[in-house]
Amino acid sequence: MGLTDLMSMAKPNMDARENFLSKLSSREFVNCFQCLKCTSGCTALKLLELKPHEIVKLVNLGFVDELASSDIIWTCVTCLKCVQRCPQKASPYHIIMVLRNMAVEKEAQIPEEYLKTVSRILETGLAEAPQEVTTRKMEVFDRKSLNLPKITFPRESFQVAFMKIMEEK
Ligand code: SF4
Ligand code: SF4
Repeated sequence: MGLTDLMSMAKPNMDARENFLSKLSSREFVNCFQCLKCTSGCTALKLLELKPHEIVKLVNLGFVDELASSDIIWTCVTCLKCVQRCPQKASPYHIIMVLRNMAVEKEAQIPEEYLKTVSRILETGLAEAPQEVTTRKMEVFDRKSLNLPKITFPRESFQVAFMKIMEEK
């Protein structure tokens, strides 16, 4: 659901904010001074309904449940640029990851495209399978016709690593 719909009746919830804080390894994000350095370098900026600095602001104001129920937290591409650029160690990235975990815990709706990507990774070890390309003359080429080497899917090594992480948890 879009954030605009969720926010129309929203009220700040400071208990939810405290619960959120307990899930973060650091409380630095309360020191955000809205400099916008995170937003100015964000890879997903054009796709985000809310900018990274606005997400930090809303969490600080207590609108945690609304964010955890909205689609916007799934648009971040986890590039970590905001972590590198923030002068206050506020890290919008880590905030978004906690919000995603909260969304899964409360069984909020997760965008279908995101679930498809997770399935592809589990099945093949790749986020995106090799695709054919089409030229302006509508000629279609695959890797073989371009004399490119065959892709080996890292499925097995990925699944072994994934199972190891799950067992350690
Ligand atoms: S999260 Fe960091 S970079 Fe972004 S607005 Fe706040 S202080 Fe600036
Ligand atoms: S990690 Fe997410 S929020 Fe941070 S800069 Fe990258 S895309 Fe933007």
